[in-house]
Amino acid sequence: MSELLSFRSLYARDERHAILAGLSLHVNRGETVAIVGESGCGKTMSIGALLSILPDDVRITSGSIIFDGEDVLKYSGKERMARLYSRIGFVPQNTSDSLYPLMTVSKVMTDAYVRSHPDAGRKHAAEKAAILLSSLGIEDAERVLSLYPSQLSGGMKQRINIASALMGDIDLLVADEPTSALDIHIRRQIESLYASLSGREGLAMLVVSHDLGFVRSIADRVYVMYAGRIIEEGLSDEIFSDPAHPYTKALMTLGTMGARDREHDLPEFGRPSSDIDRESPACAFLPRCSCRKDQCAGPVGYACISDTHFVRCVL
Ligand code: SF4
Repeated sequence: MSELLSFRSLYARDERHAILAGLSLHVNRGETVAIVGESGCGKTMSIGALLSILPDDVRITSGSIIFDGEDVLKYSGKERMARLYSRIGFVPQNTSDSLYPLMTVSKVMTDAYVRSHPDAGRKHAAEKAAILLSSLGIEDAERVLSLYPSQLSGGMKQRINIASALMGDIDLLVADEPTSALDIHIRRQIESLYASLSGREGLAMLVVSHDLGFVRSIADRVYVMYAGRIIEEGLSDEIFSDPAHPYTKALMTLGTMGARDREHDLPEFGRPSSDIDRESPACAFLPRCSCRKDQCAGPVGYACISDTHFVRCVL
């Protein structure tokens, strides 16, 4: 599999803190990759850096983001968005807010497509939207296209967002917490929808999620993120069956991280990840780690467990 996207030693910070501290990861063509970790670890910021949707006070200070062989950080924010729209689809975390209330589903789905494919025409775009909705299990797609967001259920809005993201014949689908804030019934439907997409030929997916059950069901590879950097990576089976980093083990012990209050069950031996010096070469998990040793305060590098499984821990 050839590489489609890579973050290479990416650093970003706001006025006070480092947010990304040497983030490196990659996604191959056709592969489904997940980033897991607590709130505040930087996983949503990673997506923001790629898609140029970072908060105003956050800036990238060094590193690169290579998409299809080109460093996209050389483009300004608006130009980057314009260039990537036809290649990368994005499903945001809060699907309710992402649909403009005064636009029908048809307009939501076709506007951006027509802008980026001016020769296609709105009729072709509407036909494409109807086919996409049907392929995602929406019955009566023509009627759904005429509805407004206030007339849609939460699960339907999620499907519309996924369909909108797929309109551009994309190479990569990026999804931010796709199963959060969904009731269990809808969550199962959305999980199976993503599972079907993960097998779609030529489509790579980068999914950010708290929900380990969901991640396990769809991901080929998993990155565990802590305090702005990757602390463990591996094939999904390796991460779930044989986690190596104490933080990953703690997450696995908790099972699914779908409920945010489960974060409070994580070991708290000191400061939370938002307060630590993310640019320090020491292990960022040290204040909370029950296995810590003297050498954890020095530079901690990556250890290789297998050809595909790496961990940033002295153990
Ligand atoms: S490097 Fe040390 S402090 Fe960090 S996770 Fe490993 S044992 Fe714990």
